[in-house]
Amino acid sequence: MKSYTLMTPGPVPLPQKVLDVLASPMEHHRTPEFIALWNRVLSNLKRVFLTENDVYIHTSTGSGAMESALVNVLSPGDDVIAIVSGKFGERWADMAEVYGARVHRLNVAWGKAVRIQDLEAKLSEVPNARAVLCQACETSTGVLHPIREIGKILADRPTLFVVDAITALGALPMPMDEWHLDVVVAGSQKAFMLPAGLAFISLSKKAWAASETARTPRFYFDLRRERDANRNGESYFSSAVTHVRALDSVLDLFLSQGLESVQARIQALSRATMVAASEIGLSIFPEVPSPSLSAFYVPAGIDGQKLRTEMEVRESIIVMGGQDQLKGKIIRIGNMGAISDENLLQTLRALAQSINRLKPETISELQISRAVEFARAELTKAPAVLL
Ligand SMILES: *Cc1c(COP(=O)(O)O)cnc(C)c1O
Repeated sequence: MKSYTLMTPGPVPLPQKVLDVLASPMEHHRTPEFIALWNRVLSNLKRVFLTENDVYIHTSTGSGAMESALVNVLSPGDDVIAIVSGKFGERWADMAEVYGARVHRLNVAWGKAVRIQDLEAKLSEVPNARAVLCQACETSTGVLHPIREIGKILADRPTLFVVDAITALGALPMPMDEWHLDVVVAGSQKAFMLPAGLAFISLSKKAWAASETARTPRFYFDLRRERDANRNGESYFSSAVTHVRALDSVLDLFLSQGLESVQARIQALSRATMVAASEIGLSIFPEVPSPSLSAFYVPAGIDGQKLRTEMEVRESIIVMGGQDQLKGKIIRIGNMGAISDENLLQTLRALAQSINRLKPETISELQISRAVEFARAELTKAPAVLL
């Protein structure tokens, strides 16, 4: 297999310890050893979600937990406000429509963060909204939405705040209870540094109350089923035992290093990428950048798709381009996962050199070495705790 340096915002490179666990022999999910591990994982997940509520594990990608969030709290015909600021916002709005919700889209220009006054206006238009759906970080643009502020607005209303935190939870502070988040979903292949295949979800008391009367048909994602099974230390369906064992090792890493130092590392990678990009003349795309990934405009006259292919084929480094309306216009670099200083510096160098190959003499040698030097200085502020 050809080996690449993976610098995408999911999947992300995995720590060596996680790779080792993934190679362990198969075990059964009803052994006492696995049940002990399952209980530990569920209680440690609560410490990452920063909630008193239970956290549930689905064997699915992140989109499964997005679907779970909807089917567990909505009924057909419910009014729902969907903040749509990119690909993932579109997906959630479409999903809610499939399940029969009356979706009121609050469209936000891609790259912009939602304005609180626009949300307030939408809430006055749709006063009976059962839920507001929002990405914490819209990974297709790299923007960070004002989740805490929205939580404050919705806390005193009957409307639920349903948050896709798939590229936020673990990567930046997102305390579920303190910020009044009613449903939070996360996925394994982003900040959790695992392969795709697990998704996590937690419901506040307000969301559980809605769940009791919700009439959307649900079976695989019915959290009532999981809740009862988890009380006996079990999952309702077969557990993805190897993934869960690897999750245990990631949670151990998070909690032993401290979430603050995990997040400080991600911040440092983000700042390093930003200072370097600015030195080589790239401008930041999102209005409010999330630390979990960095998105930049590609220089004028360069096709972003060609640039990412150039990096993949010539440098064996995988970064992401833009999707849909942003295709060819931006590139995105992930800051989550087991990224060493050298991985990032090599990526920045390769990025500049690839730009120069596509459009000669865009960036000088001096700019490249200064960019790398500035990035290195940022990285010294937070050690690579996630390797
Ligand atoms: C990755 C991602 C998802 C889920 O994608 P899956 O491919 O289903 O795991 C959802 N929302 C956001 C913001 C994401 O970054």
